[in-house]
Amino acid sequence: MWLKFGISPAGELVPVDEAVRGKTKLTCLYCGGLLTARKGTVKQHHFAHTGETCQPVVHRIKNRAFPSLPLYDNFLIQLKGEELERLKVLWREYGREQRPIPKDLTEFRWILKGLMIGDRHCYQFTNLGRIPVGALPLGQFNQVQEPMLLSELDKLERSANVAIAAGLSAMDERRADLEIYRVQLRRILLNSLYFLEVRADGETFHKVGITTRPIEQRIKEVGRDMRSHFSEAEVNLLGLWQHRGNVELYFKHRYQRFNFPIGTLTEYFRFPKVETVLRDLNGMAPKVLSAVEWEVLGGKRAAS
Ligand SMILES: [Zn+2]
Repeated sequence: MWLKFGISPAGELVPVDEAVRGKTKLTCLYCGGLLTARKGTVKQHHFAHTGETCQPVVHRIKNRAFPSLPLYDNFLIQLKGEELERLKVLWREYGREQRPIPKDLTEFRWILKGLMIGDRHCYQFTNLGRIPVGALPLGQFNQVQEPMLLSELDKLERSANVAIAAGLSAMDERRADLEIYRVQLRRILLNSLYFLEVRADGETFHKVGITTRPIEQRIKEVGRDMRSHFSEAEVNLLGLWQHRGNVELYFKHRYQRFNFPIGTLTEYFRFPKVETVLRDLNGMAPKVLSAVEWEVLGGKRAAS
């Protein structure tokens, strides 16, 4: 885990994706030191301190303790490779058919983590347990993730408030944690999820993505991208879901096996039956923002 946000001279939080590679005028939220954007090909893009790395950041890198959105870009719930493979097998052989899973095939750890539930003899997958195997429909995924997103926000807010009230030296660090979290939450709430159909040279592809701009602009760009690979391309919008930036990466995880990269473009898919996918997307309840989410969306920085 890395530092992925810096503060601009105007006081805005800037994600590393939007920073130009190399030394920047952005500063560290934890210490105020200047940052360099590291955007190479090996490690994930991140910010490093231009001078010496401050202790709060050293500590968070070492302990993988930068605040991050639950179930946003990691769906494996800390399962190791072999464990995940076994879970997948159980899903195929039992979960999918809704057959009870014998106790000796389950792991106590999975029950503790809430991936499975049952009595002394047999078990079944919970909704959370279906996420690592990509089996949870998108609508239910939202129902699992949304309370987690808000409870993490609440936890960070309380932790910052306690430090502020008690005048703890950790006060600034916890405030920085809260800001880093809020800006990530804001981004997924600001974005709309779109699903496009692309017809190019007699073939049909689909594309999923997120945008904060008018969808017509995005459709034009996708058309341009496609025409650099095909002689003709037509792009149609199949659906647009507001405030659903949270779903994009889970969608890619769930439908990974249908991923169909076109050149360097990786957000394309080829589905045998797109109706099923559309039904999954349309199974999502329209996002209704809560008071807390409106406030996050307003982009006000945490109380100081
Ligand atoms: Zn720092």
